[in-house]
Amino acid sequence: MSAAALKAVCNAPWVFHCSTGSCNNCDIEVLDCLCPRFDVERFGMLLAGSVKQADVLLVTGSCNRKSAARLKRLYEQIPKPCLVVAIGECAMSRGIFIESYNCPVPLDHIIPVDLYIPGCPPKPEAVLAGIVRLVGRVTAKGDRAP
Ligand code: SF4
Repeated sequence: MSAAALKAVCNAPWVFHCSTGSCNNCDIEVLDCLCPRFDVERFGMLLAGSVKQADVLLVTGSCNRKSAARLKRLYEQIPKPCLVVAIGECAMSRGIFIESYNCPVPLDHIIPVDLYIPGCPPKPEAVLAGIVRLVGRVTAKGDRAP
């Protein structure tokens, strides 16, 4: 992945939100980030209507057997280079679903993940801080290490 291309992506990242099977609390916190109180747009970020227009993929929920295949297909469609952010314990490690027969592997066994934001659910401040930090690191160093 080209460092220059990643830096360009991070100037005004468009984000696409994908829930792979969450309880919806993480999704509500992501939506809060878009509201005037937290105003994610002040960082140049916009919610993309299609994954084909996005630079950052936000993933919530623990991937199950059905959603894993669909998430892979979404990841294939997002223009590269891109960044992937796992939001919440379920996306990080399968959380309370870790013993479920239907969630055999964590998210980072399905697609590469650049940033993990812990919490059940994480607060909007944590989501914003994590994304801003990731974008800042990429912009400063040109690498994708979170
Ligand atoms: S991390 Fe917690 S809040 Fe988020 S989807 Fe999982 S159970 Fe729900």
